[in-house]
Amino acid sequence: MPFRHPTSKVNWTNSSFLTSTAVLTFTLVPWYLYNYGIDLFQTVMFLVFCIITGLSITLGYHRLFSHLSFKAKWPVRLLTLIFGAATFENHVIAWASDHRRHHKNVDTDGDPYDISKGFWHAHIGWIMFRREIEPPWDNVKDLMNDPLVRWQQKHYVLIATMASFVLPAFLGWLHAGASGAICGFLISGVARITAVQHSTFFINSLCHTVGSRPYSTNCSARDSGFMALFTFGEGYHNYHHEFQHDYRNGVRWYQWDPTKWSVWTLSKLGLTSDLRRVPEEKIVLAEIAEARRQLGKRITCERQPISAKVSEMLRASDEKLHEWAQRWQTWKSTPNPERPDYLEEIRNALKETRRDIQRAFELVAIAA
Ligand SMILES: [Zn+2]
Ligand SMILES: [Zn+2]
Repeated sequence: MPFRHPTSKVNWTNSSFLTSTAVLTFTLVPWYLYNYGIDLFQTVMFLVFCIITGLSITLGYHRLFSHLSFKAKWPVRLLTLIFGAATFENHVIAWASDHRRHHKNVDTDGDPYDISKGFWHAHIGWIMFRREIEPPWDNVKDLMNDPLVRWQQKHYVLIATMASFVLPAFLGWLHAGASGAICGFLISGVARITAVQHSTFFINSLCHTVGSRPYSTNCSARDSGFMALFTFGEGYHNYHHEFQHDYRNGVRWYQWDPTKWSVWTLSKLGLTSDLRRVPEEKIVLAEIAEARRQLGKRITCERQPISAKVSEMLRASDEKLHEWAQRWQTWKSTPNPERPDYLEEIRNALKETRRDIQRAFELVAIAA
């Protein structure tokens, strides 16, 4: 049932800010660009601000502070706290508390951005309206021990204003005086806030609506390579909900995930450590279990009966996946890394398993 927001519950601070930045971005900013244009310095500054503030949310607020998927030295924590605040998505205590609650209660009333209450609610409605009861920050006590986090919480509005508006205006002024300051404020300040905020909001709305669910259909989270392009790699949301403590969201090496590449690069520079990865065997077992669940559903679906021949083919695929699952279980419990061909065998089996899963789903598509 769609969620209804009574006007008496409007959060006026959040609503006015979100509305005014969005309105300025789609009125004043295009007018300014049409009349005054934009030079290379301002264009580069806009892109740099998008990347730094966007990564501060995905790498800092999300994967570091909310999920503890790696450890980071103080310069990384400090910078992600400063430029995370610059997105005006609240301080990290509130952000991480909501996010941990989202994972724990996904798709239910306890989920702050519950997609079952509608796309609008999950995207932005939950921020623009006050909640019945403000949930306590009792799930982020670990973060309160970090003095940098406490500092950010205490001075959040000042830090956000300085990093988001004053800094780009100041850099623009250094470059071209008063006109540079106005351009910096409008483009790298206002327009950038709108772009980065909606990129984050899309993870809560579109990434729970559009895409595939190769790891689990237990929740609404979806994998979408397309969404990953606009979200610094957070589009692989089905994987993320299944394995939330992995520092990677795009788990395959070729999947577009600039956040995971940044964490990895920082680890080579000694600035991050203890990167958490889910073992490959566990990931493949989840994929096999999900593929078998979906195949089983299709075989027994009475509303869309399939021919005996296709049914037979699907059952054969399912049987093969079952065999692979058993083999993976054995490997998982008795790994033998000292055997020289062990890793090679695992890699080949992995490729074959993924091919089997693909083939089984092609059969489902033909039968549909
Ligand atoms: Zn989610
Ligand atoms: Zn998460």
